[in-house]
Amino acid sequence: MPELRKDPIIGRWVIIATERGKRPHDFVIEEEVVKGGFCPFCPGNEHTTPPEIFAYREPGTEPNTPGWSLRVVHNKFPALIPQGDLDRQGEGMFDKMAGIGTHEVIIENPDHMTTLTNIPIDGFVGVLSAYRERIRTLAEDPRFKYVLIFKNMGRAAGASLEHSHSQLIGLPIVPELVMEELNGSKFYYNWKERCVFCDMIRQELQQKVRVVKENEEFVAICPFAPRSPFEVWILPKMHYSSYDQLPEGSYRLLAEIFRETLQRLEKSLGKAPYNFILHIAPIGESGLPYYHWHFEIMPKLTLMAGFEWGSGFFINPTPPEDAAQYLREVEL
Ligand code: ZN
Ligand code: ZN
Repeated sequence: MPELRKDPIIGRWVIIATERGKRPHDFVIEEEVVKGGFCPFCPGNEHTTPPEIFAYREPGTEPNTPGWSLRVVHNKFPALIPQGDLDRQGEGMFDKMAGIGTHEVIIENPDHMTTLTNIPIDGFVGVLSAYRERIRTLAEDPRFKYVLIFKNMGRAAGASLEHSHSQLIGLPIVPELVMEELNGSKFYYNWKERCVFCDMIRQELQQKVRVVKENEEFVAICPFAPRSPFEVWILPKMHYSSYDQLPEGSYRLLAEIFRETLQRLEKSLGKAPYNFILHIAPIGESGLPYYHWHFEIMPKLTLMAGFEWGSGFFINPTPPEDAAQYLREVEL
């Protein structure tokens, strides 16, 4: 049974995930796995994953059989599990609760070699719509306060399987980093009565130095203070705090700018590993005037080492102005 434990000094929660790595030898880094071999995410192997909880399928096909264009299943090695009550407890001075949550895998498309850079645009729209559907469904479970969607691409970024997939974790708490963003943007709003993200978008679009790409409804920028070289954020130009507030027709424009941004990164950096995350308002707090949902894409080019760990500072050798110019100008 996984457990959530709170650091009593700074209030950070950690997941002690008993179902995952257990002993020191489980952490020994293995050599890069050779391509090929058995893939549980390929069509025909549906029975080797936990049962599907959501899918886009051809009419008439059964769950857990081929005929899907996207599948969502529980993670076989979940960090948190969906059964039970939170069971908040104290252990002396310490706080803990049961590791209740959901850990899902979104298998983005059936083809083993298709990634988000070469997926047809309808497929990308499907991925973004599936994120919305899962957020909507999980928002109905009162145990969850936050849904974090993320992608680890490439082994160095944490992906253990090659077949393109993203993940979702539904949490009984709002993560600390999200709280920092919420508190910071609320403070700015109380002071200026404007959304800090809207202000940032307006200024970036005027200056155009850190803009990678824009379309009618979205913008991709290298943020002013990026943690990683070539870090890119994608934001809606319209103010929405929740991802599922976006009108149906807007997901295509989001897919277009998102795919092109990933293509520009891949063209510039090769198949560098990356992570992306979706930051949204907490469940039950939609319509916040001060928070603005966004994707953050973080290429894995530098290591989090002692200084970063000890200080929370990141040392980034690439100014975002240079990164944005490079990404804008690279030929696709
Ligand atoms: Zn596969
Ligand atoms: Zn805003």
